[in-house]
Amino acid sequence: MSNNDYIQSLHERIEKNNPNQSEFIQAVTEILENVSDELLENEEYQRYRIFERLTEPDRIVRFKVEWLDDNGEAQLNRGWRVQQSNLIGPYKGGLRFHPTVSESVIKFLAFEQCFKNALTGLPLGGGKGGADFDPRGRSDHEIMSFCQAFMTELYRHVGPNTDVPAGDINVGAREIGFLYGQYRKIKNEFAGVLTGKAVGMGGALARTEATGYGVIYFLEHVLAEQSQQLDGKRIAISGAGNVALNAAQKAIEKGATVISLSNSRGLLCKEQGFVKSDIDWLIKYDNVKDNTLQEFAETKDGQWSSDKKPWQLRCDIAIPCATQNELDGQDAKALLENGCQVVICGANMPCTSDALALLNSSNDCIYVPGKASNAGGVAVSGLEMSQNAQFERFSFEFVDQKLQDIMKHIHDQCVECGQTDEKQTDYVKGANVAGFHILAKAMLAQGV
Ligand code: GLU
Repeated sequence: MSNNDYIQSLHERIEKNNPNQSEFIQAVTEILENVSDELLENEEYQRYRIFERLTEPDRIVRFKVEWLDDNGEAQLNRGWRVQQSNLIGPYKGGLRFHPTVSESVIKFLAFEQCFKNALTGLPLGGGKGGADFDPRGRSDHEIMSFCQAFMTELYRHVGPNTDVPAGDINVGAREIGFLYGQYRKIKNEFAGVLTGKAVGMGGALARTEATGYGVIYFLEHVLAEQSQQLDGKRIAISGAGNVALNAAQKAIEKGATVISLSNSRGLLCKEQGFVKSDIDWLIKYDNVKDNTLQEFAETKDGQWSSDKKPWQLRCDIAIPCATQNELDGQDAKALLENGCQVVICGANMPCTSDALALLNSSNDCIYVPGKASNAGGVAVSGLEMSQNAQFERFSFEFVDQKLQDIMKHIHDQCVECGQTDEKQTDYVKGANVAGFHILAKAMLAQGV
């Protein structure tokens, strides 16, 4: 079999085993392209079917979530937990509550999470979960009922050394609190079974800030490679959740001009750049509320445009922090035409395949995938786990310093494994190859 035939038949087999799962296949295809040389050069990887075995989740749990809304009517949702791989540590990854959640979406996130978690250098396996529940317009009481019903099913599959979920889209400190309360009542034990907990009940200081801050720490290393710095750069950010707001806050602190934020309804721009107190105001707001950005535009100094994305704006750096596939080929083209030099992901897989192909083939723009740049969140979750296991409390400064060290470690691995003929770093390849090496070695060492 020729080299191309080997990779192609491997891809076809995975596609056949995962029908109608476009997001999952998109993520697998991207990684397979990058690691195909390693697969072809290593006979053991082929004999032991390392790549194929990595793509297959250890198990997928799907469950029914039944709960009562405020009118006393029964509601029905579907929940999932994909336990992708515990080769290098307990399954670890967030929970997402969103109507677009499907098995394919959770599987792609769980697969990517394995690589991301491996890159942190901490003993963390990969998993992901969630539900097709839409929290928009739901009361606090309804959110609590839903979370309790969700955990009533999930609790039997998780545990501090088995599987440790955290937050993701629409699952923040409030939801983690409700989920944790239900777990504690059912199991009658205090255990670090969830991360992202409030600080007073075992949560890590700096966990909320970690993903956004981590993106900016990583970005500084990317710029330093180009002998540049963040000070004075114009940054367009999408999203208005935890990741977007904390990335904005750290970027402003480092002297950058952050000109946009967005949500599913539209775009908030501030041409002269947001100031720290703007972001403080937005962080205090409940970001599940849809009209926060509009309210900001009405009461403060900003411009609101319905149904727009930030990628037409002139910027040096773009940070997509909303959701998967939010930046398409057209958007990528506009960014390149407007002179964008770096696209660095706060969200997981925010670029469509078209956009990725355009950005990655440009010599003028560097693209950094989420599994490298947004790993700060899960890294600090790892610190929360070790803090809980030791019955300890780490200081903000300690966690923040560790986060900076971990982001540098991830950057170093990307540079080492992502060299191209032009001597520039291909961060997608670097992250995929470095993560793959860690997982493949662990799989070989542990036997079949
Ligand atoms: N949801 C975050 C991620 O995509 C954090 C996961 C965690 O802390 O376990 O990495």
